[in-house]
Amino acid sequence: MRRRTVKTPFGKSKQMPVFDIAGRAVAKPQVCGAQETGSKSDNLPNKEAGLGRPPPLNPSHALFVDVDGTLLDIAIHPGAVRVPPNLPGFLQSLEVRHGGAFALVSGRPIASLDQLFRPWRGAAAGVHGGERRRRDGSRADLDPGIAAAALDRIRAAAIDLAASNPGLRIEDKGRSVALHYRSAPAAGPRVERFAAQAVAEAGAVLRAIAGKMAIEFVPRGYGKGGAIAAFLAEPPFHGRRPVFLGDDVTDEEGFAEVARRGGISIKVGPPDRPTAAAYRLSDVSAVHAWLAGQPAG
Ligand SMILES: [Mg+2]
Repeated sequence: MRRRTVKTPFGKSKQMPVFDIAGRAVAKPQVCGAQETGSKSDNLPNKEAGLGRPPPLNPSHALFVDVDGTLLDIAIHPGAVRVPPNLPGFLQSLEVRHGGAFALVSGRPIASLDQLFRPWRGAAAGVHGGERRRRDGSRADLDPGIAAAALDRIRAAAIDLAASNPGLRIEDKGRSVALHYRSAPAAGPRVERFAAQAVAEAGAVLRAIAGKMAIEFVPRGYGKGGAIAAFLAEPPFHGRRPVFLGDDVTDEEGFAEVARRGGISIKVGPPDRPTAAAYRLSDVSAVHAWLAGQPAG
């Protein structure tokens, strides 16, 4: 049996049988119908409550991983996240293991990913697919086009909104604008009303994506599903079975894209809402262990 040592971001190194399923059929993902994203329900479908652990990773898979809430625990604001010291090296090992077919797919700008995971600078999609960097460093960013003017108006209005709502934080990513209310939870309904009005005024060029205690305004053509599809159209991703891990509403399009291609879609976190994902891992630690090929603890 092929054995391989994989270091986890926690610094432990274990001898374990990993990737010994090459060529063996794995469970076919159960694809849930399209879900209303952002909705909350106390009466979740059985499927969500009963999502199982994903099958083991195979080096032939194309691996796509969200960052906040998936690779990193969520912090009070995006700048406050803690990166385990061995995580950048772990990302490099994943890249090697998957023959280069590994990419981060995040709402953060790529510059922020580079800062967090230095010296790692691999394939990545940032700003929900608005930015895309191939493994060779070349870029395939999406032009915000006519949405840029609408984003400018939202930026100005968001500054006024933040001025009257202490704790509300504006994250300007250039190609998108996010409003975070984790430090001002009471402002949530006001932010939602602001978003509804802003999108109505912007017409068809923008959409608002609701995340965890945040709403982000992005040009309508952006999305994690599109970013994954773009990677899969090119080497070294092309022809590989895709795997995507994510935790938030913004990842649902990625789950759906991967499911359409017969891939493995994995929701990270508790069963708190309907999802298009076929599998579940409980938290960030479980993600690290699963990526490293460790058996369930
Ligand atoms: Mg996330």
